[in-house]
Amino acid sequence: MPFLPINKQEMIQANIIKPDFVFVSGDGYCDHPSFGTAIIARMLERFGYSVCILSQPDIRNFKVWLEFGFPRLGWLVNSGNIDSMVNHYTVGKRRRKTDSYTPGGIIGKRPDRAIIKYCNEIRRVDPNGAIIIGGIEASLRRLSHYDYWDDTVRKSIIIDSQADLLVYGMGEKTIIEIADYLASGLKIRDLIFIKGTVWKTKDISLIPNSAIKLPSYDLIRTDKKTYAESFMIQYNNTDSITGKPLCEPCQNEFIIQNPSREPLTREEMDQVYDLPFMRTAHPLLEKIGHIAAMDEIRHSITINRGCYGGCSFCALTMHQGRVIQSRSKDSVIREAKQIIADPEFKGYIHDVGGPTANFYQPACDKQLEFGVCSNKQCLHPTPCKNLKVDHTDYLDILRTLRELAGIKKVFVRSGVRYDYVMYDKNDDFFRELVQYHVSGQLKVAPEHVSDTVLDLMGKPHKALYDRFVKKYFQLNADLHKEQYLVPYLMSSHPGSTLNDAIILAEYIRDIGYNPEQVQDFYPTPATLSTTMYHTGLDPRTMKPIYIPKSQHEKAMQRALIQYRDPKNYALVLEALTKANRFDLIGFGEKCLIHPQR
Ligand code: SF4
Repeated sequence: MPFLPINKQEMIQANIIKPDFVFVSGDGYCDHPSFGTAIIARMLERFGYSVCILSQPDIRNFKVWLEFGFPRLGWLVNSGNIDSMVNHYTVGKRRRKTDSYTPGGIIGKRPDRAIIKYCNEIRRVDPNGAIIIGGIEASLRRLSHYDYWDDTVRKSIIIDSQADLLVYGMGEKTIIEIADYLASGLKIRDLIFIKGTVWKTKDISLIPNSAIKLPSYDLIRTDKKTYAESFMIQYNNTDSITGKPLCEPCQNEFIIQNPSREPLTREEMDQVYDLPFMRTAHPLLEKIGHIAAMDEIRHSITINRGCYGGCSFCALTMHQGRVIQSRSKDSVIREAKQIIADPEFKGYIHDVGGPTANFYQPACDKQLEFGVCSNKQCLHPTPCKNLKVDHTDYLDILRTLRELAGIKKVFVRSGVRYDYVMYDKNDDFFRELVQYHVSGQLKVAPEHVSDTVLDLMGKPHKALYDRFVKKYFQLNADLHKEQYLVPYLMSSHPGSTLNDAIILAEYIRDIGYNPEQVQDFYPTPATLSTTMYHTGLDPRTMKPIYIPKSQHEKAMQRALIQYRDPKNYALVLEALTKANRFDLIGFGEKCLIHPQR
């Protein structure tokens, strides 16, 4: 049985009488290393545990939970690769029309707040079974957190789900440790010492002496300043070397977050990516309908995880941490050869990257011994003097990949951190990126051009972006290439006033850019920016900041980015009038819109 069983018949064919684990996932099962479900299930299989996958169970039918019988060791539950609320709703809180992680793109095959719903149903049918939750939804909701959709602070998901244990971050080693202890006869309630987990207790004597006591759920629910302070303690305790246990009182219980799991070594990363993935969706699911999420990743290669970029609106720090972990060149080449052998491969590797494509090594040597600095960022506001800027190894991988028989082109589509490119005194990477790895247009993420907003975002200032743009086009000219640059821009980030949005519109005018899409700031769980949005404070300084919150103001900021679209005329006019920028209404070449007729 090459795929893991997704129904009873396949379980019998796989000679499994009672699975060690039943893995409930909100995604359609794709056996590919870009899916957390596949990685964790294949890891367990490698260590001798049997796993059956319950993919997108219909929670209205209690019989689904009986498909494989109750598992011997426990239920594993995730919402899929994305938080179910982000998956289902736009930033405007409108229901999305499709779900790219579901066969046929059908929306609604997983419930909202999938982990809570799945676990509550499991608890009903199997009251004594061990339930372990993980994945991005569990990880980022592990302690009390602001929830944008309810517009309130929710309790840790381990409470609402009634789960026993929560695995946060990347869980390969953690899940094996849990499985081994359960198999050895320990009860799930005894597993309170495992790194990278969150657990709950009513017994005060179990709280580790070294734990930092966070403010209670009741307090942070009502006091925004305390919420911001609590978030910063969590943010500064994500490192596996320096991070302390955290304890958050939640009514009559305590939620304990153990320190994070140490990063995988290169050998361990290679072992994960060498697991025997089938690299496609399960054929029974594909028969129901195509899982679109596979399209971009099937011929892409993940080479790293973790990120020290420190963008405030990104949850990577809280999930994967700041220490870069990467695969060996040999491991990457092995995967490339598997891709080349795929009959559907047309010669184009879509991507060779990760959260940030060009971070292939830890930011500095010091962090490997002493942990990442909790009081400063590696790149912002200026690059740390200890930062190692070197693209040699990444470039070496790209060079080898593009020489492989069967490869026509190797693209880099993951975000490239352009400031890191600019800090490299050696131009080789930038030059070869432009020469070989851009598919007509390079996408980069300056996100804004107002330095005030950029500082809140944790992004480099506009002057550096301007230098990058100049150099990019110079390299294109040198190489006789005509390639474009697509800047990702974000509207309505905390701190962005109408004046900042107008500065951005003027920039768009000056570069002659006509953005097709605008990304509104989306307050997803557990980011620094979401904390700003909720509290109106910059949690790093506790200074008040302006928050564009009303739908109308957000619409104006969005419209300014697309001021050329006639549909946006009224909003742009209103915004410019409100900001007293009548100089931008008229017929001059600097004007954004004409006056009303
Ligand atoms: S010393 Fe510098 S590069 Fe290293 S972790 Fe600290 S801020 Fe980052």
